[in-house]
Amino acid sequence: MDYLPIFTKLEKRPCLVVGGGSIACRKVHLLLKAGADVTVCALEFHPTLLKQAANKELKIIEQAFAEALLENKWLVIAATNNKQVNEYIATAAHAKQLLVNVVGQADISSFILPSIVDRSPIVVAISSGGKAPVLARLIRERLETLLPMHLGRLAAISAQFRHRVKEVIKIAPLRRRYWEKLFGNGLLANLLQKGQTESAIALMETSLTEDITQGDVALVGAGPGDPSLLTLKALQLMQQADVVLYDRLVSSDILDLIRRDADLISVGKAAGNHEVEQSRTNQMLVEFAREGKKVVRLKGGDSFIFGRGGEELEELVEAGIAFQVVPGITAASGCSAYAGIPLTHRDFAQSVTFVTGHRKTDGEELNWQALAAPNQTLVVYMGLLQSQEIKTQLINHGRAPETAVALVNKGTTSDQHVVIGQLSELEQLGGGLQGPTLMIIGEVVNLADKLAWYHPDNNQPLSRDPFLVNLA
Ligand code: SAH
Repeated sequence: MDYLPIFTKLEKRPCLVVGGGSIACRKVHLLLKAGADVTVCALEFHPTLLKQAANKELKIIEQAFAEALLENKWLVIAATNNKQVNEYIATAAHAKQLLVNVVGQADISSFILPSIVDRSPIVVAISSGGKAPVLARLIRERLETLLPMHLGRLAAISAQFRHRVKEVIKIAPLRRRYWEKLFGNGLLANLLQKGQTESAIALMETSLTEDITQGDVALVGAGPGDPSLLTLKALQLMQQADVVLYDRLVSSDILDLIRRDADLISVGKAAGNHEVEQSRTNQMLVEFAREGKKVVRLKGGDSFIFGRGGEELEELVEAGIAFQVVPGITAASGCSAYAGIPLTHRDFAQSVTFVTGHRKTDGEELNWQALAAPNQTLVVYMGLLQSQEIKTQLINHGRAPETAVALVNKGTTSDQHVVIGQLSELEQLGGGLQGPTLMIIGEVVNLADKLAWYHPDNNQPLSRDPFLVNLA
């Protein structure tokens, strides 16, 4: 980190701006917003500065910069259009150990002014340390659209209520829960957005009487791998969690987005290799929730598609634990999108079927007759080890041996690899693949060449600006 972001209290602090043009004007505007006692020294002044001086919002001194002006100042901004003068100001300010910023010259400044998203009292500052100003600006624009205007009111009203919450809820973690619940469900924000301040205060008051000692479980689908495919709700819950039980399929990039203080527990299981038995997982979910924790059960893809989400919920229902389910993008959607294979198409596939290659040992046989029918797409999860059976059964039941097949390995991640071939060579196609692999079988696979927008080998976008994709 080249610069440490700090928020300084400038209220009534004497600050000097040297320069009277439009750049100086913008800096003065910021200082005034922070309540600083501003003096502007210049030979000529922008009309806005003259007006502000007439209104007694600031002082102006019509003269060239002189060191004496630094007396009793806290902070200096050099914004003249003369490089040498700016450098002279910086040297003089450094000698007095004052905070000094020279506009456009981070190298001789002791502080820099970040881009700001202002939802006071919430303020977000963004800086690239002068290294990538356009990138910083794009991030700021993104945040401007992301952070609602009423955020400031939300923060201000909570500040008023903090004392009351402290009085009623004595235990700090429970207070955190109270605020998370209040901010998390969107009701308070909704009222403020509509300008209903009194109802908002009433809501804060009634929420104080709700039971927050009971924990809950969120069954969250983490999507197929690319962290930007997480839902906003998933991200929100991951950042509020006390404990997260996650599967082996959940990528480390996604785990990095979990709240730093949360306990992370791996309950990952590969087919036939149960790291933590399912019954133990179910039991942990119940125990943690009973301890009052906010539990997130994070699963690859969607929890209700070959994710045993239903089984875990049944256990929670029996134990009387509150829960919610957040859908995720299932591997079939993610992998097909990133490989350019539409799962249905008016000409080639009127339906799509998801099946699992891995079934309970005493489970039902798949209906191969139905699965081998033409004009449909078959997506097989956990199918790699059963490649030979899948191929033989489909061909024996009438599917053409030359039907196109795609194997999408580690789909949507930066290691995505797509292998395309024919049904008749299914086992050979998957021979060298390690890690999660999805099989897509059907004529739609032939479209992959034409529609791929991510390079099948290095997962780089083919036709879109990678910068925009990454920021999205
Ligand atoms: N609930 C998950 C599926 C779990 S079953 C979902 O909705 O996606 C595990 C299987 O899903 C893997 O064996 C593989 O077939 C498929 N899978 C999951 N993520 C994948 C990925 N990123 N790339 C390819 N296949 C994936």
